[in-house]
Amino acid sequence: MKVYLDNSATTALDEHALAAMMPYFTEKFGNPSSLHAYGREASAAVDAARDKIASLIGARANEIYFTSGGSESDNWALKGAVRAARGTRKHIITTAIEHPAIMETCEYLEKNEDVNVTYLPVDKDGRVSVEDLKSAVTDDTVLVSVMFANNEMGAIQPIAEIGAFCKEEGILFHTDAVQAMDSQKIDVNALNIDMLSMSAHKFHGPKGIGVLYIRSGVRLARLIAGGHQERHMRAGTTDTPLIVGMADALETACRDREKNNARISALRDAFIKRVTEGIPYVHLNGGTEHRLPNNVNFSFEFIEGESILINLDLAGIAVSSGSACSSGSLEPSHVILALGVPEELAHSSIRFSLGRDTTEEDMEYTYKVLKESVEKLRAISPLFNMEKGTGSYV
Ligand SMILES: *Cc1c(COP(=O)(O)O)cnc(C)c1O
Repeated sequence: MKVYLDNSATTALDEHALAAMMPYFTEKFGNPSSLHAYGREASAAVDAARDKIASLIGARANEIYFTSGGSESDNWALKGAVRAARGTRKHIITTAIEHPAIMETCEYLEKNEDVNVTYLPVDKDGRVSVEDLKSAVTDDTVLVSVMFANNEMGAIQPIAEIGAFCKEEGILFHTDAVQAMDSQKIDVNALNIDMLSMSAHKFHGPKGIGVLYIRSGVRLARLIAGGHQERHMRAGTTDTPLIVGMADALETACRDREKNNARISALRDAFIKRVTEGIPYVHLNGGTEHRLPNNVNFSFEFIEGESILINLDLAGIAVSSGSACSSGSLEPSHVILALGVPEELAHSSIRFSLGRDTTEEDMEYTYKVLKESVEKLRAISPLFNMEKGTGSYV
């Protein structure tokens, strides 16, 4: 049996989106910037996709900028805002649990462009406090960047409150909404979002395409210089098929949002209940209330997350330990540590990210294999054999 529970790393391409894309690889291959019929045909498809994506988030078409994905959108929002301020304001407020695309961009700006960054802490459920944000603001603050929902433990942030506060203070507000697009209802005006990053491959669109929404009037320096694509703001030949596929996939995701959320969150809750009741010395990372419908993240005492991952993989089950980007390193996840989880437990964290194709049988099988793997690994763990009987060592 094969079970894919790594939908936060990437998703399968939607069949309908693939069919929509196909003609733009072959007979409709024109460059949308060309003035002839080939170009006009491609450019009409890009316009339609732009309109569609804009309307799905309550934006205007001229506020949608296509990029190569979530990482580029995040880089652009941060570097672009700092550089457009030309040294007049050099303080960014973000969180301790951002994706590496934000984290490493902040570190780059601190090292190379003399920027100060405040990393807001989170509570045990993984949420930032709006009060902490308010007290972090200074006259020097140029941008607040808080992710919509976390990719590792699924915490959904108080975006509406943060947006309202930033608007009142006249501070730019960017959100990395890559993990939120398919399950959260997002209206950039209602939420007072100035910039928003998304990535198609996280909602069953193609890889290598994303959007940065930029509210009109926001001043942002370019990241990629060259041709005049994207209204002179982002150079590079427009990728018609990927753009068409992204818009189609987002439309499907938004259309099915409520139905998918209800079904997937029920599977999630049943799995959480079963694991916490059926496997001893297990901890749920992140809270239960403001949590993405598809996210489950557990730490299993006395075992390395990696060992569980390998055992599940041998049984055909795909999960993730830490985040896909940081696995391979021996460092425990900065996100799980930020929850206040001790280092040993952070090392033992496993993410199960469900998706629209996940079935009850998938979760049944996963539970069975997981329970066996944990028992097997603990049986050979010296720590477990030393400590068991005395209860939890945490
Ligand atoms: C996947 C992800 C990204 C990066 O997106 P890419 O399109 O893969 O570059 C950024 N932020 C979050 C929260 C993500 O989950």
